[in-house]
Amino acid sequence: MRHPFSILTLLITSAAVCAAQNHDLGYDNTPSYPGSRWRVHDSSRPRPEMVTPGSCNGPSAKPPADADVIFDGKNTSQLVTIQKGQAGPVSWKVENGYMEVIPRMGGVTTKESFGDMQLHVEWASPSVIQGTSQNRGNSGIMIMGQYEVQVLDSYDNLTYADGQAASIYGQYPPIVNASCKPGEWQAYDIFFEAPKFEGDKLVKPAYVTVVHNGILVQNHEQILGTTPHASVGTYKAHGELPLELQNHNTSVRYRSLWIRRLKPRNS
Ligand code: MG
Repeated sequence: MRHPFSILTLLITSAAVCAAQNHDLGYDNTPSYPGSRWRVHDSSRPRPEMVTPGSCNGPSAKPPADADVIFDGKNTSQLVTIQKGQAGPVSWKVENGYMEVIPRMGGVTTKESFGDMQLHVEWASPSVIQGTSQNRGNSGIMIMGQYEVQVLDSYDNLTYADGQAASIYGQYPPIVNASCKPGEWQAYDIFFEAPKFEGDKLVKPAYVTVVHNGILVQNHEQILGTTPHASVGTYKAHGELPLELQNHNTSVRYRSLWIRRLKPRNS
């Protein structure tokens, strides 16, 4: 009993630190985007209601004839993993018609660069639930490597609204939660208009529409900048860039990925 107050203080401090570091439900000290009433990952932002999709875990959709097939369940020749600035072979497990994230082995990036696009991607969260909130089935569709449509196991998994599946990470929750169960195959159809720059100046922001399992969840939303964690993103001028699938250290699977480059109609 030489230092009873010190031990008590230590316990209280440890509890406070743990509470402060547990952001499963969001944050109350992050900045806001200009004009937004919500903080980034705002813990009080309402979660979207659940809408059960018409079908989950269905067969893979065949790509249209004019699509760039990025991944067909087997062939990874259109993809690389970039580690320490060096592009190398895909570092994820490829088997049984899908590829699966291997934690801490980097993301997967397209060899080609893309601008305006229609993107179809099919993914599945781990069937065995591990972790909570952002640590449960987290990956991401990093459009142009920097604008994230979140991939997360959002089936009965409480997290902050702008970080759940089909959110534009840190900016917009989906209109509804159209998630399938863990382990079931799900689909995103994403329609993306790339930002336009003149020199360093942004002249048109990016816009995105997302359909999750056949349900409209993002309707031509204006992307406000890059999508960092717990802070406000900005734009920095760029041209066409590769697309990346994020490695967030959970074993998310992908089985189909194709992209159509969007062109204006010819009349
Ligand atoms: Mg993510």
